Amino acid sequence: MLYSCNSCGASMVFDPDRNMLVCPQCGSTRDSMPEGTESMRMECPNCGAAFEGAERRLVYQCPYCASWVSVDANLAADNAPVKITPFAFGKKTAREKIRDAFDRIPFLPDSFLRDPEGKDIDAVYAPFWLYTMEGEGSYDYTGEIQRSHHVGRTVVTNHEVYDIHRGVRYSFQGIPVDAMDELEDKIIDAALPYERTLAKKMDPIYLAGTESFLPDREKDEEQYLARARKWALEAVDDRESTLTSRFVGLKKRNSERTLENDPEKTEGVLLPVYRYEYKGLGTHRIYMNGTSGRMSGNAPCDRKKVLFHYLVEAACTVISAAAIVGMLGVLL
Ligand SMILES: [Zn+2]
Ligand SMILES: [Zn+2]
Repeated sequence: MLYSCNSCGASMVFDPDRNMLVCPQCGSTRDSMPEGTESMRMECPNCGAAFEGAERRLVYQCPYCASWVSVDANLAADNAPVKITPFAFGKKTAREKIRDAFDRIPFLPDSFLRDPEGKDIDAVYAPFWLYTMEGEGSYDYTGEIQRSHHVGRTVVTNHEVYDIHRGVRYSFQGIPVDAMDELEDKIIDAALPYERTLAKKMDPIYLAGTESFLPDREKDEEQYLARARKWALEAVDDRESTLTSRFVGLKKRNSERTLENDPEKTEGVLLPVYRYEYKGLGTHRIYMNGTSGRMSGNAPCDRKKVLFHYLVEAACTVISAAAIVGMLGVLL
């Protein structure tokens, strides 16, 4: 379906700051999907050009007429995400956040973050499967608690040896497993951790102007389940080690754990990440979580500025050395 503007016919994009579709040509807005018929064909409904490389995309920008089009065949697929965590702020805010974080770094090139059009910031929705798992654990340990007290001038230490049995139940909701192999690791890292309560029912209105993808494989794929299980059991082990830390010389004699996936509760979700790409001095990328604003990445370094900095510093050093020599002269 086309995201076309009712007033001028141009292609609209979603603006998270205003929570609606906005026309970049005439400024018209709307808060629901434009009327139109869904098209299951992999071609642009505006100009008829074939979609190229859109096999896994949920939204597509036609390279010929620049229209944004929802890829309805993929949105209707069995493994299409049912939820989405929309971007909490727009590209303009994302740019300000990057500037705040990096502007005080010396040697930043002047052209860093200076593209007024904002075409250097991409909005990406990464597909994840969220798993619900429950289980029980049973642990047997031997451990000591040591207590010391004084008897006259002697310190007496009691060693109390315990047989410890722990039974625990645990449940996890929404364990995230990234579901697209080709996506950059940095995008996946930036999408996590995510806030479960921010997820909304999937609506293609949020996708206009973004890169959004379908999961590579179905939710019950064993490799996804294995990763969710590994994550959950590591969390159980971490918790177990903090709970048993008051004992000295703890020895685990036996442990059993179970972990069951509830396939009915698995959900596909799209999580939002901004990517700023600077191409002035090699390619540098900064990644930002689209809800928390947490970011990672490296800023470029302008070598000419570095050289200038060292020249100034060297000049300062010479001046102070001259000053010391002058002082010595007075003292002698
Ligand atoms: Zn318009
Ligand atoms: Zn087109």
